[in-house]
Amino acid sequence: KLDFHPSGRHFLQIPGPSPVPDRILRAMSLPTIDHRGPEFGALGLELLSKVKKVFKTESPVIIYPASGTGAWEAALINTLSPGDRVLMFETGHFATLWHKMALRLDLQPEFLGLPGYDGWRHGVQADMIEARLKEDTGHELKAVCVVHNETSTGVTSDIAAVRKAIDAAGHPALLIVDTISGLASADYRHDEWGVDVTVSGSQKGLMLPPGISFNALSSKAIETSKQAKLPKSFWAWDEILEANQNGYWPYTPSTNLLYGLNEALDMLLDEGIDHVLARHQRWAAGVRAAVEAWGLEIQCLDPSVYSPVLTGVVMPEGIDADDVRKIIYERFDLSLGTGLGKAKGKMFRIGHLGDCNDLTLIATLGGCEAGMKLAGVNLKGSGVIAAMDYFATNPLDAGKR
Ligand code: PLP
Repeated sequence: KLDFHPSGRHFLQIPGPSPVPDRILRAMSLPTIDHRGPEFGALGLELLSKVKKVFKTESPVIIYPASGTGAWEAALINTLSPGDRVLMFETGHFATLWHKMALRLDLQPEFLGLPGYDGWRHGVQADMIEARLKEDTGHELKAVCVVHNETSTGVTSDIAAVRKAIDAAGHPALLIVDTISGLASADYRHDEWGVDVTVSGSQKGLMLPPGISFNALSSKAIETSKQAKLPKSFWAWDEILEANQNGYWPYTPSTNLLYGLNEALDMLLDEGIDHVLARHQRWAAGVRAAVEAWGLEIQCLDPSVYSPVLTGVVMPEGIDADDVRKIIYERFDLSLGTGLGKAKGKMFRIGHLGDCNDLTLIATLGGCEAGMKLAGVNLKGSGVIAAMDYFATNPLDAGKR
């Protein structure tokens, strides 16, 4: 409950769902049409073609009317058989949930990771994956599953390095990657990195509400799916791929969310994906400048894998991060991400993705700074001033205006 009657707009600065731009809300408000009619078929073909550009792939991208968790399940059950061994890497809460899902699906996942809590402060260690795959001379491991942008910690792992590790081991395992919170905010290259299945969702960098999710495929993944024996029906790629040939789905798709997706793709492609990524890198650097000025620790301990999507801010000993978040929410109408799983109470997460700008982030940091002071956190200096200085002296389009 807020401490006052809210005016102005709420600040939704969690790392997804991210704020939905008015342009997308308007596109989604158009009347729902016949999903088997000609107008829909044309829309379907258009967006199935455009969406590939965001994944940087020439291969098909499946769109499900489901949250990201559904697309996680789809990636596993379309490619694997009961009892299959898979190699997963513990980067944080979402990697842990995916591992739990693999157990529930009757797979045999191995969970590699750095010891203790440390794994939750670093990215995927490709050398550990390579070493494990080299041991697996009988090729029992059928897939390597990793989270690209670990939303619970703010770590963006090096997927090209994981591909290299699999190749260096000469291992045929599929590479399955979750970039639910990385797509359209962090650099991602499905084809170039040789990813077999990429899992993503709508409510993060694509700036849509929750409710649709994706599997980008490779030809190897499609071939493997023909032999995969885990039960599937709603999630089965074959019937969807067939219907998608003409821009349709085998069931009723989320028509209005697809209007939104089409609009989002236009926005992202008109701006240029690489520009979108640069915008996120710059915001992340400004937010990190603030955390440094506060004298606080960033959850991610390896600067080479800092996330451009969100930053985890570690609270000093004796301060419960959720108490701080509560004060910030109640006093300033600002929502921040909670610490999840092993990170509960230790840190909060600032989302800096999608439809933001310098001023929304300066305001967000203002809410954090004032709230932390109210909660009794000892701050070294002003993060807001540091971020303002960073943004002022590092224009995104220097020389263009
Ligand atoms: N994986 C990652 C990295 C996520 O960030 C999330 C959600 O935040 C999920 C999986 C689960 O997706 P959803 O909550 O849309 O089902």
